[in-house]
Amino acid sequence: ARTKLVVGNWKMYGVGSDIAEIEAIAASAKKFPQVETGLCVPATLIERAVRAVPGFPIGAQDVHFAEKGAHTGCVATAMLVDAGATMAIVGHSERRDAQRETDDEVRQKASAALDAGLLTILCVGESLTVREAGDAVPNVERQLDSSLPRGIDVSKLALAYEPIWAIGTGRTATAADIGEMHSALRRRLRAAYGDAGDEIRILYGGSVKPMNAAEIFSVKDVDGALVGGASLKAADFVPIIEAAA
Ligand code: 13P
Repeated sequence: ARTKLVVGNWKMYGVGSDIAEIEAIAASAKKFPQVETGLCVPATLIERAVRAVPGFPIGAQDVHFAEKGAHTGCVATAMLVDAGATMAIVGHSERRDAQRETDDEVRQKASAALDAGLLTILCVGESLTVREAGDAVPNVERQLDSSLPRGIDVSKLALAYEPIWAIGTGRTATAADIGEMHSALRRRLRAAYGDAGDEIRILYGGSVKPMNAAEIFSVKDVDGALVGGASLKAADFVPIIEAAA
């Protein structure tokens, strides 16, 4: 069976005074050793968070695909590893949208992150227009096929299905819609990687809260969650971890 993975994405929130919250989350997460957890924090907080909570996984929210070079403002995977990060999110819809990241770039980022040994969470998800047109599954399947890294060890790869219309809106997909999407993604992973595709965790993301987490985790092929707003406070995030236990 796949170990549940519950990761917080702090997005562009968090300064030094929030380290206490990270300590509180890490301390409580220890009570649920059957769940793998972690926090993807702003790049400026990674090193401080790693020092504050040794052994608790801390990750980045993006990586550059190049090893190094003239890329002003970007952060290479080796730099993240050097800072103590053990995870990275790639292809989040907020970056696909605001930074115009293409599937092709996301695929290169996923490869770079896996190469660096990072637990890599690759995000996919459809817009409301696509959902309402009834095209969500084929659309996300296509996005996945062109974002998936090839010819690389995928044992540290995880996916996150995040319907864009459910992010930060308080709306979640129904259990039936999540189940349909996750089993479609599972089939694509098997087609791409064979048996190794069965080991890849598929997380759901989009307005996961303490009150809906248990229902979401009960859906077949949901192997955890990528949590935004509700990961900022231990009081919200810990009950979500507990629901996965
Ligand atoms: P919310 O949980 O705030 O909806 O954000 C989801 C998300 O984008 C996680 O990456």
